[in-house]
Amino acid sequence: MKKVSRRKFSQSLIKGIGVASLATTLPTACAAGNSPYDGKKLGVALVGLGSYSTGQLAPALMDTQYCYLSGIVTGTPEKAKIWSEKYDIPEENIYNYKNFDAIAENDAIDIVYVVLPNSMHADFCIRAARAGKHVICEKPMAMNVEECDAIMAACKKANVKLGMGYRLQSEPYTQEVKRMVREKTFGDIRYVQAEAGYFSRSNPDQWRLDKSLSGGGALVNMGVYAIQSAIYGTGENPISVAAQEFSTRPEYFKGTDESITAQFEFPGGIIGNIFTSHNVTANRMYVNAERGWFELHPANSYGPLKGRRSDGTEIKFPHESQQKLQMDDFARHIAEGTVNRAPGEMGKRDMIIVEAIYKSIREGGKTIPLDLGRMGIV
Ligand code: NAD
Repeated sequence: MKKVSRRKFSQSLIKGIGVASLATTLPTACAAGNSPYDGKKLGVALVGLGSYSTGQLAPALMDTQYCYLSGIVTGTPEKAKIWSEKYDIPEENIYNYKNFDAIAENDAIDIVYVVLPNSMHADFCIRAARAGKHVICEKPMAMNVEECDAIMAACKKANVKLGMGYRLQSEPYTQEVKRMVREKTFGDIRYVQAEAGYFSRSNPDQWRLDKSLSGGGALVNMGVYAIQSAIYGTGENPISVAAQEFSTRPEYFKGTDESITAQFEFPGGIIGNIFTSHNVTANRMYVNAERGWFELHPANSYGPLKGRRSDGTEIKFPHESQQKLQMDDFARHIAEGTVNRAPGEMGKRDMIIVEAIYKSIREGGKTIPLDLGRMGIV
């Protein structure tokens, strides 16, 4: 049988049937996979073809079972050419930042995944929702809580689903931590410690060090993982936070935070301690409970992760791409109504905590009360 390239195939479809609705029948890299799923694979368009899209998301989309890479949005024509050839993406599924809104007319794209500098998340998530597309927003959700609200409102109004790019919520080590917390495997939780950081020394002009593009430094980048770990390590949202900032290389970290520690109080008196840094490599979560402890170390890198428990048991799962699991989870949420493991509400909750941490630092380490209830806990 003659192999049909997806490009030729998609070109032949201009006659009213969506590319995405037929993509599963194609024996191409993008649509392939050993999926037992016989429904429609959802088409994903990546917005922003930087290091995360290039190194993690696009390769993961070659393996996903419920979705596939159907489109790209880029401001760089050379990248469009390279990606189009590498991933067999048809011309009509390639957009730039200006003509992006025309994506509304494209049935091949079901999900828009925003992988841009943080200052651009809100704009593109809102435009994607208005175009009638489901949205995945990278972390941190936006520059502030107000923008998070605007994204959520746009998705609600357009009746589209919103998910955060919180890959760890879909991977098994994190699920196992949640299970042990939920089932009280070692009794009630008493204390959690979470660290997330790396040593940054490259290009001082990168957008992550420019507050107008990033919204903040280590805290909004890696700190979000530590905040998340503290929350799934206790199964609770914090009721207060006090924080401190440390700076040792002010000539490099001119406008963004270098290292931050924060102490949380959780309901029932559980204590939490987090550390995040752009100056220290840190990648661990530790949970102490009534009758023992467990930890993940590493806890937030791309994997394989590693874990152990005080009873000598190793926490071990076969390694799978976290991004693959995350995007398949979101596609299943859309297609089958399964749980949204990282809803917009979770991204907003984390932004409320980020803002409280910065407020505490501004006020000399003052304890800031938080009123989150069960917000964002899935
Ligand atoms: P990157 O710098 O490698 O890529 C950013 C992309 O945005 C590039 O393609 C760049 O051309 C484009 N861009 C458009 N306008 C720009 C502007 N004004 N300034 C700079 N770049 C501009 O960044 P990245 O590491 O791919 O991160 C992108 C997003 O993904 C961020 O929100 C980041 O927090 C998130 N991220 C998440 C994870 C995760 O594990 N979930 C990992 C890495 C990055």
